[in-house]
Amino acid sequence: MTEDISGQVAAARAVFNSGATRSLAWRTERLRAVRRMLTERGQEFADALRQDLGKHPSEAWLTEIGFVTAEISHTLRNLTRWLAPERSAVPLALQPASAQIIREPLGVVLVIAPWNYPVQLLLAPAVGALAAGNTVVVKPSEVAPVTSAAMQRWIPQYLDSAVFVVEGGAAETTALLTERFDHIFYTGNGVVGRLVMLAAAEHLTPVTLELGGKSPVYVDDSVDLPATAMRLAWGKYLNAGQTCVAPDYVLGSAAVLVELARLLPLAISALYGANPRRSTEYGRIVNDRHFQRLVGLLDTADVITGGERDADSRYLAPTVVCAGAASPLMQEEIFGPVLPLVETSDADEAIRFINERDKPLSLYVFTERAEIKVRFTEQTSSGALCFGIPAAHLLVPGLPFGGIGASGMGGYHGRFSVDTFSHRKAVLDKPLKPDTMRLVYPPFNALKNLAIRKVVAPNAAVCGPAGAKFRRADPRKPRPERSASR
Ligand code: NAD
Repeated sequence: MTEDISGQVAAARAVFNSGATRSLAWRTERLRAVRRMLTERGQEFADALRQDLGKHPSEAWLTEIGFVTAEISHTLRNLTRWLAPERSAVPLALQPASAQIIREPLGVVLVIAPWNYPVQLLLAPAVGALAAGNTVVVKPSEVAPVTSAAMQRWIPQYLDSAVFVVEGGAAETTALLTERFDHIFYTGNGVVGRLVMLAAAEHLTPVTLELGGKSPVYVDDSVDLPATAMRLAWGKYLNAGQTCVAPDYVLGSAAVLVELARLLPLAISALYGANPRRSTEYGRIVNDRHFQRLVGLLDTADVITGGERDADSRYLAPTVVCAGAASPLMQEEIFGPVLPLVETSDADEAIRFINERDKPLSLYVFTERAEIKVRFTEQTSSGALCFGIPAAHLLVPGLPFGGIGASGMGGYHGRFSVDTFSHRKAVLDKPLKPDTMRLVYPPFNALKNLAIRKVVAPNAAVCGPAGAKFRRADPRKPRPERSASR
């Protein structure tokens, strides 16, 4: 096993070292190959998602196959512009010279994916890494085995010499992590995230961690509550609640929660019919372990609607419960179709409640009050903040996606992926003649001292010959913000 893994990484390194991946043509051909694979093998991936997670083909298209296809099209449209060198102004003291920022590929990128969106979360980071000119080793999740096998089958056929697949679980991932990569992109839970970061430290490899946690919702009485209930039910029960950005719990006043408790069952019926178990649109819990965990949590709560389950098919009904802050449901990310309603007196209490906990991956606020929107924007911190809709920020290609604090570090999608998987190299080009640097070469004299203080480093508090601090002649005069050359 270990030799296989080392072999895959060595092959990825050899392709990168050949220099082939740097050209725009190599990158765009690989992106088109991913798109071709998703088009020609889309049905097989959709079937795999149905088997692993009971995903409806339309949902599979919206959140997985079509999602990645759209990401590729957006990247192909903009890549030349994103990769263009950025000119940077050169201060007067350094002129004549030119300065620019060049995005260069990092090398070999490792992508470790989870099971809940096993196509999207494996391929979307890989697309970013390829666009930035890297080779990629991908590790699909063993918890979605049919999708993992489909990746192992098709990726080598479409992306030979660009993307290398290593299948397996904790043992294979641990072995992979002993290898040297140039970036590790991990999506999954925070416990393994910490192991990934520890392993990365050994080689000083930078990491992006796309983690989870509880994404709260706040609803006030200024909004259209039936429409809010529909949006919440859609975002929560998508993929049977197994979505990192799913609304985890709802905060609101007693009056708002009473209304939501009445409206959410109607919204659930509108989406999945009177018996969601019969709906082909409603997914299943991924495995017995997660099913038992969810049932254990659910049995501690007061059920408002739902709660029906079937262990054999791992069906857990779309469920709404009443919960207090001390409830077991409020101690960990739920990651399943159970939505607790938690009473808070007002927006201030809701903000306090959110701020006392880990920084969320997403925070959702339903209000028509502009001042409440400002308060949530300014007084809370989260990977993303959405008003009026959960989860849909992922569909905006110009927004970065990522967490903060316990919900992750770094971000991606679109140009943010290219930045994540590139090094921004500083390039300065100064002709040797005329040699304007003579002004800073020792030995120093009065003229050079004056030039250094007035022109070369005018803002720096440098030490004079006698060790005295030089002070600005007129401290009331504001310092110039821009370099003298601009
Ligand atoms: P998972 O069990 O599939 O694990 C993720 C990856 O880690 C897999 O490839 C797995 O093989 C590997 N792994 C598991 N145990 C390991 C170990 N001991 N050592 C090394 N590697 C190991 O998925 P998961 O962690 O259950 O995923 C669910 C979590 O991921 C949730 O917390 C969810 O919120 C989060 N998530 C975050 C995002 C995001 O984009 N931020 C997206 C999806 C899921």
